[in-house]
Amino acid sequence: MIELQHLTKRFATKGGTVVALNDINLTIRDGDIYGIIGMSGAGKSTLVRCINMLERPDEGSVSVDGRRMETLSAGELRAARRDITMIFQQFNLLMQRTCLRNIMFPMELAKVPKEKAEARARELLELVGLPDKAEAYPAQLSGGQKQRIAIARALATDPKVLLCDEATSALDPNTTHAILQLIQKINRELGITVVVITHQMSVVEEICNRVAILDEGTVVEEGDVQAIFSHP
Ligand code: ADP
Ligand code: ADP
Repeated sequence: MIELQHLTKRFATKGGTVVALNDINLTIRDGDIYGIIGMSGAGKSTLVRCINMLERPDEGSVSVDGRRMETLSAGELRAARRDITMIFQQFNLLMQRTCLRNIMFPMELAKVPKEKAEARARELLELVGLPDKAEAYPAQLSGGQKQRIAIARALATDPKVLLCDEATSALDPNTTHAILQLIQKINRELGITVVVITHQMSVVEEICNRVAILDEGTVVEEGDVQAIFSHP
């Protein structure tokens, strides 16, 4: 379970202080596919980056499975980030490495023995439907295939939580659908809690069970997707 309490984050800019998050309170339950929706600049990215402490909150607390993220030491945070992994709009793959070695990368950092890491990476290539791309480089892949490799890499450390920051925003509708299906499969079959940032209602409607609507750093609506978006 992810619990955000009184989360506030400000940025100092030339134009003055920007309050990116203003006293956010949210609970994301185990097994949720939880949508965070809102316009550009609403604070979605900052909120999710506070869950794994890519951004440090100014006030409030972030607890993941009872672990108070803002209190962790650097070493503890490294370990926590193997449990809470992330995918991005621009995939962030390492261009000089093959797909297989991209997926092995987090396991290398976690000092998993090479043979074991390679075996696991090949299993993950199967899981994401690209078993024949082990030796391909990211530049040789389509956007959807790149995101599949990024998902495989995110799963390499057997996380409990997958954070998705506009993961389908660079993809066409058909590819978006396929990636959302893969995310749903990961949630159901591996029991991974998923947090999905999006500006697209259709993404929330397709896979999320719960949603928070963010506007100017505040949660303006929160709850069951059916209840909030059901058409009369
Ligand atoms: P969203 O993901 O909903 O588009 P963000 O979380 O990226 O929103 O941004 C929320 C607000 O915080 C915006 O006004 C943005 O410009 C500001 N912001 C985000 N990151 C930074 C930063 N590193 N420095 C200054 N302002 C930032
Ligand atoms: P997103 O699509 O996630 O909202 P952005 O393009 O808003 O991405 O932000 C990308 C990066 O730039 C993030 O690391 C964010 O913290 C930073 N950023 C966003 N807004 C600002 C800003 N006004 N000033 C400085 N950095 C910013």
